Amino acid sequence: MFLESVRVLDVDICIQRQDKFAARARASTDLSVILPYLNAIFKSADYNREADSITFIHGIIEFSLIKDQINVKKFANRTELHEQLDWIRELINDIWESRLELSPMYTKRRRPPVMTILSLLPGTNCGACGEKSCMAFAARLYKLEVEIGECPLLDTASKNHLGIDFE
Ligand code: SF4
Repeated sequence: MFLESVRVLDVDICIQRQDKFAARARASTDLSVILPYLNAIFKSADYNREADSITFIHGIIEFSLIKDQINVKKFANRTELHEQLDWIRELINDIWESRLELSPMYTKRRRPPVMTILSLLPGTNCGACGEKSCMAFAARLYKLEVEIGECPLLDTASKNHLGIDFE
């Protein structure tokens, strides 16, 4: 098995969402070789080949992997943390088993600037997404802190356009 275990190092309040938690965990092996495969799978991924690091969103959970460290943000409790760590461990082992059939991606994804994202949002500042304005939502979407689907007014064409870069 490529990744035998993941050990939680510490848990704290999430800086981005103070009603959620963030944790650091240590993998039993260096994950660098897996990162280009995760980059190929997750269109939300922010991959840095030089730093051997990647950040991506799974549901509302944010994962950051660098070498043997796994950072997890925005989980609700320890049960969810362990579920998410089990999920990432299984995914990594599945990728390792199937790596000869998969195509790794070594390039960084290009994400549209905040103002481009804003131009595709409805612009009503209705607050249905939980943000005070479309601008605030665009800024958070750019940072992958929210998902496209959290704006219920977004039309399909804009959603598809943004989805190329974010989903
Ligand atoms: S729900 Fe959509 S339209 Fe309303 S404020 Fe949020 S981003 Fe803007």
